[in-house]
Amino acid sequence: MGFRPFIYRIARENRLSGFVLNRGDGIRIEAEGNADQLEAFISLISSSHPPQSTINSLTIEDLPPLKDRSEFLIHSSDSNALVRPSIPADLGTCLECQTEIFDSKEYRFGYPFTNCTHCGPRYSIINNLPYDRARTSMQGFALCPHCQKEYQNPLDRRFHAQPIACPQCGPSLQLIEPDGTILAKNQQALLKAVSALRVSNIIALKGLGGFQLLVVATCEKAVKQLRTRKNREAKPFAVLFPSLDAVRECCITNAQEESALISTQSPIVLIRKRLSAPLAPSVSPANPQLGAMLPYTPLHHLLMKELAQPVVCTSGNISQEPMCIDNSEALERLGTIADLFLVHDRPIVRPVDDSIIKVGPKGWELQRRARGFAPLPLPFPYSGPSILALGGQQKNTVALTLEKQIVISQHLGDLESAQGAALLKKTVIDITSFYQVSPQIIACDLHPDYTSTQLGFQLAQEYKASLIQIPHHQAHVAAVMAEHQLTGNVLGLAWDGTGLGPDNTIWGGEFLVCQQGEYQRAATLRPFPLPGGEAAIREPRRSALGLLHSIWEPSFFDWAQKQFSSSELPALLQILNHQICAPLTSSMGRLFDAVSALIGIRQKNQFEGQAAMELEFAAEDMDTTDTYTMLVTKSIKLTKHLPGHCLENTKTIPIIIDWEPMIREIIQDSADNFPAAVISAKFHNWLAKLSCEIAKQVNIPQIVLSGGCFQNTRLTRMVSRKLEEAGFAVYWGQAIPTNDGAISLGQAFVASQKI
Ligand code: ZN
Ligand code: ZN
Ligand code: FE
Repeated sequence: MGFRPFIYRIARENRLSGFVLNRGDGIRIEAEGNADQLEAFISLISSSHPPQSTINSLTIEDLPPLKDRSEFLIHSSDSNALVRPSIPADLGTCLECQTEIFDSKEYRFGYPFTNCTHCGPRYSIINNLPYDRARTSMQGFALCPHCQKEYQNPLDRRFHAQPIACPQCGPSLQLIEPDGTILAKNQQALLKAVSALRVSNIIALKGLGGFQLLVVATCEKAVKQLRTRKNREAKPFAVLFPSLDAVRECCITNAQEESALISTQSPIVLIRKRLSAPLAPSVSPANPQLGAMLPYTPLHHLLMKELAQPVVCTSGNISQEPMCIDNSEALERLGTIADLFLVHDRPIVRPVDDSIIKVGPKGWELQRRARGFAPLPLPFPYSGPSILALGGQQKNTVALTLEKQIVISQHLGDLESAQGAALLKKTVIDITSFYQVSPQIIACDLHPDYTSTQLGFQLAQEYKASLIQIPHHQAHVAAVMAEHQLTGNVLGLAWDGTGLGPDNTIWGGEFLVCQQGEYQRAATLRPFPLPGGEAAIREPRRSALGLLHSIWEPSFFDWAQKQFSSSELPALLQILNHQICAPLTSSMGRLFDAVSALIGIRQKNQFEGQAAMELEFAAEDMDTTDTYTMLVTKSIKLTKHLPGHCLENTKTIPIIIDWEPMIREIIQDSADNFPAAVISAKFHNWLAKLSCEIAKQVNIPQIVLSGGCFQNTRLTRMVSRKLEEAGFAVYWGQAIPTNDGAISLGQAFVASQKI
């Protein structure tokens, strides 16, 4: 990222002699000059290093005089030092490059592939290490004399900028029709794409880490058209804005959100939407938030400056599958979605999605860790045999331990599709070969049907590695422990939709005491049946029916009759009565679903987590301390509706959280026509109160919040506030998502502790 040229420049400015070299574990500088010059030099290192670089530590020592004191040089690398290869992340266009592309006097005026050592593609174009041009997808573009000169000049911003390019020698643009016909090239292609967007066409744009689908965000008809063609009913779209001012027009931003928007990582930032936002309602229906982002490639900058209005910007994929990265693949798979394709000839080596963050009470919280962040390593307190952790099934990532560090892949998405499974395999090959590591331990989930678990078994044989299977919720808690480097024991709240427990039931509303690779289930939600199993994930009304069935009374029949057809209801009740196809769960996600359905917010999900999100949003701005009755029991209250097979394990469960009184009061509130806002706020308060009650009983000072439920901002805020008021230290995922994107890190952490 231009660190050595920076040192070179400030050493020369201060008339020092010596050298700078790469050591793998850092850089070494030997500098000689008078005391004032050296002092100025040292203070410049800390105060003006390149913005995208971080100095973790700076050690200064006196050395004997140098033999050659004529000049200051850049040495390539220290062959004696252990050189750990590092893979840089993709970086958003820097301010200097932005200025160049908009200045008609500049050589790269209007050039959409401008970059320098401070910005541009990295991870998405690297084929192999060490990172130099010959091993990137820029290998096919020979440098012209102009670029060559910049590339070789240590004083130039483009010194050793591997993806360096210009209109003479670099990639170029094309606008093509779905059948492959070329309509225009270069600037004409860009201008025609803008005109097409203006008349509400859908454009597939080849971005930095994959294809994106664009359509003007102000035109309801156009956005609806994209929803229909992409078969995406209601899941919110992100919006790409031409400028920060344009974001401010649609969103209520704070300073941290704005600094995230303009950061080199340029993620999608979830921000509160203005009621007056001039956007099509279909962009993010029934959602008070908007995923906003700013241009992060020269192509985006040029396009958005010309268009001067916000566009929906969503991944170019078919739902549940990875993004398209290849031109012909895009024409084939997105041909029925996009009207036109704005493409270029710089190959993308691997899909790297846009990252998503939100700003929480303690700063940035990554919701999806990909472009700009992956695969930068995180510190990891372990230096034993290498561990490869394969994650879960949804929102997946994989992780590989290095010496005292861990590398976590970019968000890979869901693994159900053949493409998803292939991407998982390719990513494993990528990261193990980049670091030339043959894993000695493979960590994976307990669930036998997960694609990642199956790959785990296969890889354990191939690498002759030992396999460790780790319960999903233990991994959730462990991920937060790893991120915050927590030692000693913690009480972890692991609340999500689904994860297989060691008793073969579906867990998800767990309080786990975790320490040294072991865990104990301290408390859990009273289990309830899910009629039809997986189908309950799509239909919150099924979770509600399962809950009601456990505490059945005749009056519930009215509600059930309203929600299910006359053929559905008897079949579901049959399933529940016979306990067939009705697996038990202690899932907090399903409890959210059930409450959402019971109070009439949502019976069927159009996308994952919709009912729970709408329940959260219903409470927006509602401020009350009211709550529902809490009942925790040391011994489970067995009713005739609880199937026998969980009896075995209940012996080891000390605390059961019984939702029954709460659910009965919610039904009463609903019958009394209390607004959803009040019921939702009281429900969130109930969860905060019970967390605090359990924490006090378990009495461990460190508390971890983990699992997809904590994507719910209100929940995280209420629970953490209550716990902190009671004197507990509370941690949750910030650098790593709280959802299943954290599972690979957690698995690696548990495995490292077991070893
Ligand atoms: Zn730049
Ligand atoms: Zn050139
Ligand atoms: Fe999970």
